[in-house]
Amino acid sequence: MLTTRLPLQVEPYRLAANAERLEGCVSLDSMPRLEEEAGEQQGACEVRLDFGVDAQGRRFIDGWLKADVDLACRRCLEPLPVSVESRFQLGIVTSDGVAAELPNAYEPVVVENEQLNLLAVLEDELILSLPQVVYHDEAECSVSRDQLTSGTASEGSNTPAASPFDVLRKLKDKQ
Ligand SMILES: [Zn+2]
Repeated sequence: MLTTRLPLQVEPYRLAANAERLEGCVSLDSMPRLEEEAGEQQGACEVRLDFGVDAQGRRFIDGWLKADVDLACRRCLEPLPVSVESRFQLGIVTSDGVAAELPNAYEPVVVENEQLNLLAVLEDELILSLPQVVYHDEAECSVSRDQLTSGTASEGSNTPAASPFDVLRKLKDKQ
């Protein structure tokens, strides 16, 4: 477990020019949008970011994150610990116009005034990485399969309700 705190605001152009690596962790309770999506969280998110410049001169961040979050079990609504891990490639651009020209491999991040709000970027990535529907193992769930088949909570209607995730995910898939 990494214990270094990541800086929450960085200068990505300088970091890319120097091919620097940032490693550390960010408290999940500093992510208000994550709390909206997944409820209050205790742990930390481990992060590794490699900054660089590709052969075409584009500045990028090759990123990885991992976090243990508590999500509500879809069957009993009690918290269920879930380990989330994600790799992502960000292309640093100066404007939305430039963002449109980025190859698909990069998710554009618009950086103005040399400053990047790292916390917001990591929060986006983490929210996108959350599984949409989670269940406890049957033995651990407070709603048993018998209760389910007897009818109250029907597992058959398994279509997840549209959530803000769906929208974000579609946006991400489009790129
Ligand atoms: Zn459950």
